[in-house]
Amino acid sequence: MTADSPRPTLVLVYQRTSLPWVFESAQRAGIDLVLVPRPDEAVSADRLPPAVVDLLRLDVEGDPAGALDALRRRHEANAFQGVVTLYDPAVPFVAEAAELLGLPGIGRDAALGAQDKRVMRERLAAAGLNVPGFVRLDDPADWEKAARLAFPVVVKPAHGFSSLGVTKAETPQSLKSVVDEVWQTSANKLGRTDGLVVEEYLDGPEFAVESLAQGGDVRVLAIGYKGDPQGPHFEEGVYRAPAALPDAVQESVRREVVAAHRALGITDGPTHTELRLRGGETPYLLEMGARIGGSGVSHYIASGVTGIDFAAQALRIAAGTATEPLGSGPSPTPVAAAANYIVPCGGSGRITAIHGLAELRDDPRVDHVVQMLFPGDVVRPYPDFTGYPAFVLSRHADTAEAEEFHRFLEQSIRIDYTDDTVDTVDTDDTEDTDHEGQA
Ligand code: ADP
Repeated sequence: MTADSPRPTLVLVYQRTSLPWVFESAQRAGIDLVLVPRPDEAVSADRLPPAVVDLLRLDVEGDPAGALDALRRRHEANAFQGVVTLYDPAVPFVAEAAELLGLPGIGRDAALGAQDKRVMRERLAAAGLNVPGFVRLDDPADWEKAARLAFPVVVKPAHGFSSLGVTKAETPQSLKSVVDEVWQTSANKLGRTDGLVVEEYLDGPEFAVESLAQGGDVRVLAIGYKGDPQGPHFEEGVYRAPAALPDAVQESVRREVVAAHRALGITDGPTHTELRLRGGETPYLLEMGARIGGSGVSHYIASGVTGIDFAAQALRIAAGTATEPLGSGPSPTPVAAAANYIVPCGGSGRITAIHGLAELRDDPRVDHVVQMLFPGDVVRPYPDFTGYPAFVLSRHADTAEAEEFHRFLEQSIRIDYTDDTVDTVDTDDTEDTDHEGQA
């Protein structure tokens, strides 16, 4: 920051401009953004999203050393106060850049633990947290090492996101073929063949937890219900918060999530945690991302439930200007319910029509319809393709109303396909909404 430019500036890596929340929060927080666009997204300099003052093109995935060097030069020429991303694969790059430039961040080592599922499982287990039996496979030929686990198991890429490739194997007999298939998916879709995790299947409903860490204090802002997907593949479905859970269970979720921050060394910034409640009450983490989840959907949910500008606070932490600590007190009392409905593909082939979506834009409960697939696009059969047609983001007085609204959407949204395809058009560009997905 200079005398003539008192506003902090952050470099925001690989955020899609169609997902507006982080840009809007930056504007409210008085933070300028230098946007590093996704290489496949055409962002025009004369139609920038709110708060974006500049564009910086970097090839973070293809040439990380060159990208780091370009960032360093940009910083020397025109200093910025921090660097941030909502895109999971870029979390280690951002941590490294911040460390090299002496800017706020979680550090390379914590980023590794949050991004590599093998390291994460090892660190959580070492800290005595709830972890399913697991085996890391550095080579698919070693699949038999995982046959000793209690079945069913889940096989996943070590560096996956968006549930890409994540597959359940019901029996030891099917393990080899599932391991081979996930290895292939990892190579083809993630461009990585450096390892898999095989872990015991956690039976129980799934939840997402949005938290903010600051100076080592962790505040859990919202716990939301994520459905109960049974596999063999795990497409994202719903996200409704606050979750209707007994107080004691919420408390054990909070304890586990706070302890996981400690185990992984995540002391500052937002996190998005996914977990399952084994037996309906014991939390087992699936993963913790050191970022705002769902490319910003987590902000929509957490701020809708709490009234707190989650992304603004996350950006202030990244810029080192978060003067008011949120503290480690109890979770804020929910002020409303917020929900995301991820429209399922419900088939494959070339989309000819999507029914029931357009009219939602006028529904007073709906704040955003983020559409990613359109008539003419080709949906390949799962697991080859895991893009989602659309998100419907809505607000409600309580979670029961959100649930009722989602039942309505299940009935009213329908996608028609023809099978005149395949092999022609590849629409494979939507996985990044992280869904984590969810987001
Ligand atoms: P990604 O980062 O690719 O989304 P996750 O580890 O979050 O990978 O897994 C994606 C989804 O797969 C989870 O949200 C969950 O539904 C399911 N899943 C993953 N691991 C397990 C497990 N051990 N038991 C049950 N379900 C699992």
